[in-house]
Amino acid sequence: MDLEFDRQHIWHPYTSTLNPLTCYPVTKADGVRIELEDGKQLIDGMSSWWSAIHGYNHPHLNSAAHQQIDTMSHVMFGGITHQPAINACKKLLSLAPDNLEHVFLADSGSVAVEVSLKMALQYWHAKGDPRSKFLTLRHGYHGDTFAAMSVTDPDNSMHSLYKGFLPEHIFAESPACGFHDEWDPQDITDFKQQIQKHHSQIAAVILEPIVQGAGGMRIYHPEFLKQVRTLCDEYGVLLILDEIATGFGRTGKLFACEHADVQPDILCVGKALTGGYMTLSATLTSKEVADTVCGGEAGCFMHGPTFMGNPLACAVATASLDLIEKGEWEEQTKAIEQKFAELLPNLNQYKQVKNTRWLGAIGVVETHHPVNMEAIQILFVNHGVWIRPFGRLIYMMPPFISQSEHIEQLVGAVEAALQSEECFAI
Ligand SMILES: *Cc1c(COP(=O)(O)O)cnc(C)c1O
Repeated sequence: MDLEFDRQHIWHPYTSTLNPLTCYPVTKADGVRIELEDGKQLIDGMSSWWSAIHGYNHPHLNSAAHQQIDTMSHVMFGGITHQPAINACKKLLSLAPDNLEHVFLADSGSVAVEVSLKMALQYWHAKGDPRSKFLTLRHGYHGDTFAAMSVTDPDNSMHSLYKGFLPEHIFAESPACGFHDEWDPQDITDFKQQIQKHHSQIAAVILEPIVQGAGGMRIYHPEFLKQVRTLCDEYGVLLILDEIATGFGRTGKLFACEHADVQPDILCVGKALTGGYMTLSATLTSKEVADTVCGGEAGCFMHGPTFMGNPLACAVATASLDLIEKGEWEEQTKAIEQKFAELLPNLNQYKQVKNTRWLGAIGVVETHHPVNMEAIQILFVNHGVWIRPFGRLIYMMPPFISQSEHIEQLVGAVEAALQSEECFAI
């Protein structure tokens, strides 16, 4: 592969053109493995950023894609509909929290978040009570487009760079109580004060239920989410749950909000929606939200992406949801969780380690110092795994089909990194 061309001309996520690290050339992927150009096989610990839950090159997903591509890859969604979209939305609604009745399809997670925020703004506009603020949590992540970034942690997403352009929203302290800790009633205090003080301006609360992903891999107590729902109801504020990372079984429940037994007014899903094959996301709402939005001045919801409802993506999403419906994810994520619970506490003995945590098919090692990306990436590849940490977080969210020996190999590689001085030399 022409890696020098790649290095000189192609931007990768969050990289510099000045002196980029060389990327690893991948030629194929199958099951839990990614194959490099030189034939080396890596156990995937990332599921390609939460998405490839069933593993790569899955026969059921492949067959859905082949059939659809031979029939119709794409057709516009304005004034036209098709069976792949109907199938995907029907399945999605049957699996999602049962108060949700309407689906808006989009291309990426960030756009699903933009759509959810626009819906909340249109909702209050239609009610003759326009509101322009969102309440969210520190350490959150909701995507890289502007509105999504405006509700993402101000430090992690460098709000200072876009000052004057980025709308300013309200941030409450993120919960300190971990999922397995005893609930501390103090945890909700700041959130409660913020909603009490600003509720008449707040269109919606937006947050990631139970697991805050890219903003810090924090796994928090379900009681926090329960109380958020109660406070939203008490103050008449909409609740948007961003399940783009957590949706479809990742936390050991189909949706993370089930840990707290709550339902959102608006739900965003993406990432694993097509089992990691295609880019597709969806924003789901209750009938009340949808009908209020559409009863307003605009008479409709003001959004319509070119590739909305892409048939190829919808066909693969339907196939992925078929696999979800079979229910094996539940046993699989439970087994992965048990393995993490067995192996991760051993890592607390290393001086680099600040904390280890896990839930469902997510395992996190937080270190005291940031990792040296170049060194740790080389070590992981030498150990036959693909794990891509950021900052002080080494985290794993392997495909659900991973067996215990795969989890052992992933955690073993993390242990080797913790023993290496080089991986923490800056
Ligand atoms: C990844 C992610 C997004 C953004 O999705 P993209 O497809 O990258 O635009 C939004 N919210 C959460 C919680 C995510 O994990």
